[in-house]
Amino acid sequence: MSGAHAVVLMYHRVSLDGARPEEGDFALPTWLFEGQMRRLASEGRPVVSLSQFVSGRFEDGSVVLTFDDGCDTDATIALPRLLEMRFPAAFFVNPATVGTRGRLGWPQVERLAAAGMRIGSHGLDHSLLDGLAPGELERQLTLSRRFIEERLGSEVDILSLPGGTGGRAALETARRVGYRLVFGSRPGRVARGRLILPVPRHAVRQRHGLEGFRATVEQRLGFHLVQALRYRALQALRTVIGPKAYVRWSQRMAPPPGDGDGGLG
Ligand SMILES: [Zn+2]
Repeated sequence: MSGAHAVVLMYHRVSLDGARPEEGDFALPTWLFEGQMRRLASEGRPVVSLSQFVSGRFEDGSVVLTFDDGCDTDATIALPRLLEMRFPAAFFVNPATVGTRGRLGWPQVERLAAAGMRIGSHGLDHSLLDGLAPGELERQLTLSRRFIEERLGSEVDILSLPGGTGGRAALETARRVGYRLVFGSRPGRVARGRLILPVPRHAVRQRHGLEGFRATVEQRLGFHLVQALRYRALQALRTVIGPKAYVRWSQRMAPPPGDGDGGLG
C-alpha cells in the first residue's frame, strides 16, 4: 500500500472573458479547462475529495482539484462541468471580495456548497501574509473564516494561503485558530500517509496547455523538477526584493501570459 502519491491542482479563473491582466496565465480558456476535465474522466484517473485525500484513502495517481480567489467562473463554468463528471473540488474565497466584479456572489458560494463542494478561506482580502503584524495575520485568518461560516452555517476548517505566503507564522496561526488543512503554492506531490502542511499544489497555467497538464497529473519527474526550481527562484527573488516590489516586478516583467498572483499562486 506504500508508494502512492496524489497531486493537488490549483486553478483560478477558467475563462478568458473578464480575465484581468494581473491574472496572467493563471486564467485558462474554457476549452482548455474542459479538455483537462475530459482527460481526467477518459483516463479513469481518480479525482478524490479532501476527506479521502486527508485520510489517505486514495490510490496512486489520484488528483485533488482546488480553485483559488473565488472567481465567478467557479460557479458559472467550473461547477456544471464538475457535476457532470462527478468530480469533487474545494473552492477558496476572500470574503472581502465576494460580490465584487468578476468574483462570486454569496448566493453562488452557497450554491457551490449545496452542490457538495468544499468551501475554504483564502484570507480576508487576499493580502499577502508575509511580514504582517501578528494581530493582522490573525485577523485575516479568523475573520475570513467567520464570515464564510456565518454565511454557510457550517464549519470552515480549510485555508489556502494567498500567493502561498505567510511561512511558519501563518501556519502556526492557522492551526491555533482552528484550521485543519492549509494549502500552499509550492509545487510537489503528496505521499500517502505523509501529509505535510502547507500542502503542496501545482498551479494549472495556460502556457502549460494540455501537455503540461498531462505531465503534472502523471507526476513526470522532469516536469515536477522544473516547476519546483522555478518556484524556488521566484520565492528567493521575492525574499530579496520584498513582496510589494516583487508583485510590481512580476506584473512588469510578465505581461499576459504572465504571472498572476505574483507568480506563486
Ligand atoms: Zn490567490
